[in-house]
Amino acid sequence: MTDTPSYLFYQSRNPRPFLDHGEGIYLIDESGKRYIDGSSGAMVSNIGHSNPRVLAKMKAQMDKATFGYRLHFRTHPSEDLAAKTVAMTPDGLDRVFFVSGGSEAVESAVKLARQYALTQGHNARYKVISRFPSYHGCTFGALDLTGYAPLRDPFAPMMSEMPKVAAPTTYLDRDNLTEEARGLKYADLLRDKILAEGPDTVLAFIMEPVGGASTGALVAPDSYYGRIREICDEFGVLLIYDEVMTGAGRTGRFLAAEHWGITPDIVSMSKGFGAGYAPLGAMVAGRRLVDPVLDAGGFAHGFTYAGNPLACAAGLAVLEEMEAHDLIGNAARMGDVLMSELRALMDRYPFIGDVRGKGLLTAFEFASDRTTMEPLDPALNAHDRLVELAYERGLIIYSRRTRGGTKGDHFLVAPPLIITEHQIAEMMAILRDALDAFAS
Ligand code: PMP
Repeated sequence: MTDTPSYLFYQSRNPRPFLDHGEGIYLIDESGKRYIDGSSGAMVSNIGHSNPRVLAKMKAQMDKATFGYRLHFRTHPSEDLAAKTVAMTPDGLDRVFFVSGGSEAVESAVKLARQYALTQGHNARYKVISRFPSYHGCTFGALDLTGYAPLRDPFAPMMSEMPKVAAPTTYLDRDNLTEEARGLKYADLLRDKILAEGPDTVLAFIMEPVGGASTGALVAPDSYYGRIREICDEFGVLLIYDEVMTGAGRTGRFLAAEHWGITPDIVSMSKGFGAGYAPLGAMVAGRRLVDPVLDAGGFAHGFTYAGNPLACAAGLAVLEEMEAHDLIGNAARMGDVLMSELRALMDRYPFIGDVRGKGLLTAFEFASDRTTMEPLDPALNAHDRLVELAYERGLIIYSRRTRGGTKGDHFLVAPPLIITEHQIAEMMAILRDALDAFAS
């Protein structure tokens, strides 16, 4: 089956087996082989596969209307999903703009920030400071903010080179600072950067509250988050949280921002928000930003498929399912179980240098030396090899070169939020088997 020629091309020419169907945390290929979806695809399938409530709600919507252009009609699914989203996000985030994916959600956030600044007479504010490493998307605007070398470097001459600050990769630091001091040190890099750029030119700062593809579930020290909020407020810089990966319950709260009591000015979500049932994303902001933009003539931005009723019906059913089964609470509880299981791997495999994460967004990183966190020899191609060994054994994990794609190997383990303790044990048994094969 895998040797059937394909007209499709993605990262490589190496085709995977044909997918047949999904069941909860499992995916089944056409030969009947079962895989645990240990990364929810790309941290997408938060409520698992083939959820009956979602499918029923989508089918009901299909019988009514699959598309109604948002400038021609309001629809109940989009209104209801917006209301539910606002109810689930912190106070102050009460306006929603739907999109079809993460890059669109990020760019929508940046455009809202800019249009709001214009209504305030801040025409000179246009710089969006982001971080390295980071991942914000593949379209040109989002890529410009992205600190992930392999996807960005080919297009470097076509980028506007927005300013970047170092993300807190604290596990690599060899100073004698306390965690708290380290968090503040990294946050103050933003302050220095704003001053260097000229505060009157800086529009916004964008960050992933927990790093994703570029770092592997990297969490900053607690002190970082509050200090970043203060610095943004000090200079009138808008704070954008890219919660495309972390949002919709993945880290054990609806938004990761809630762990630190932060209310960002704008939040981008996707992935788990449509949970694989629909290409769906959302940009959420407060009336404070949105009303002046609407008063000044409207938001000069939009995508054809934004807010289409079928995608929104799916999204609404996903949030209802999450509430009905307390999946966010389950993500927090199972996240603790998974984290201790992953930490235990460090006793068994000396080449696992670090384990980290929040809720069910967890990762481990390989190192040849735990003290220096020097990566394994790149010639080993460790990230590809372990992914293949796990795949052969029926476990899907997600791997990238770490440190912004420059060196090292990290592996994201981020199963659907419905996972049980028993299923975590099943997943870990396969992972240990794959690691044994890697080690031998
Ligand atoms: N932001 C973050 C934090 C992401 O993880 C991703 C996808 N990996 C994106 C943005 C881009 O999302 P999409 O691929 O849906 O455009």
